[in-house]
Amino acid sequence: MAEAAFIFSDTLAKFEYGDDHPFKPLRARNTMELCNRHGLLYSVGVIRPEPAPAARGDLELFHNPQYLDLLKRAGEGDHDLALLAAGIGSPDCPVLKGLYAFNELAVGATLLGVDLVMNGSAQRAFNLVGGFHHAGVSHAEGFCYMNDVGIAIAKLIEGGHRVAFVDIDAHHCNGVQDRFYDDDRVLTVSLHQLSDGFYPETGRSTEIGVKDGLGYTVNVPLAPNTDDEIYVRAFEQVVPPLIEAYKPDIVIAEIGADTLISDPLTNLRLTSNGYEAVIKRLCEIAPRLVAVGGGGYDVFRTANSWTLAFAAMCELEPEDDFAGLVGGRMYGSEFGGLRDPQIATRGEAKVLAQEAADAAVRHIHDHVFGVLGAQAP
Ligand SMILES: [Zn+2]
Repeated sequence: MAEAAFIFSDTLAKFEYGDDHPFKPLRARNTMELCNRHGLLYSVGVIRPEPAPAARGDLELFHNPQYLDLLKRAGEGDHDLALLAAGIGSPDCPVLKGLYAFNELAVGATLLGVDLVMNGSAQRAFNLVGGFHHAGVSHAEGFCYMNDVGIAIAKLIEGGHRVAFVDIDAHHCNGVQDRFYDDDRVLTVSLHQLSDGFYPETGRSTEIGVKDGLGYTVNVPLAPNTDDEIYVRAFEQVVPPLIEAYKPDIVIAEIGADTLISDPLTNLRLTSNGYEAVIKRLCEIAPRLVAVGGGGYDVFRTANSWTLAFAAMCELEPEDDFAGLVGGRMYGSEFGGLRDPQIATRGEAKVLAQEAADAAVRHIHDHVFGVLGAQAP
């Protein structure tokens, strides 16, 4: 087992984007309950610290102060054209009462995770309500208002630390990539779906950074129907060799579970098996790990997968003492547990998905591995 921090806040979990909005912070509560039921929360070595709001100075390490002022107004219920011009008040990023306080606290939770792993209180930390990787320096988009990940990276590199950011959410981390595109103090690696009309339509394998940052942005675009086998192999061919070569002090990982086959917003076909394999590998290769929740719009499957993820961070096998009593059906799949059955893509769809992954990996081996001195496996 390993020392791990489970960062949960009821205030964050209770925040609502609205009934019709797919982003449900409540997943955090479902995950907390599942982790508890599976004996993870009160294990030796697990700590459960309460987050506090981030300081304004930390928010300004990433965001423009004028934009933060707009967010503050939006949080008080204002609604006008200046806000809309900054992406606040769109269907994706509605004006919501309490918005500023919610984001301040979510950022504080990610920064708490970073503090805990950097000061040795824990080897790994998981902030369930975080991973807002689409928020820009001066605008909101893709359900994201404040970029907790970008703020954490900015703070770490200001402190002289080497940071790797690994993003396994189904969507490309455009907000983080844009901010650090010319910077070699953070290595950003993202695996994501890329297809016509699929948000945010960035993250091609040819996007590898500029100037000092050339080679420090890595994108693995994947085609619809990518399954566990294709995904895990692509991850293995890219992420561990890059981390080994870059030697970060800390890895921040956005572990959105919207890659799963049942996710209503995406077209990848992972099961909890592929998802868990990748998380376990991240735990092996990261000297210190801070995971943040990110996407995941099949609420119950996301909670299952995040429970498996936290178990991997603790190096414990989740055990359900009540499985025999209630059939394990309350949150689980029809198989009654946290894990899905194996599902593979077949036929032409499989060939196309495999070709897309192979082409991305080849491009990265040819154009990025040399810059970092990484060895292709
Ligand atoms: Zn996503």
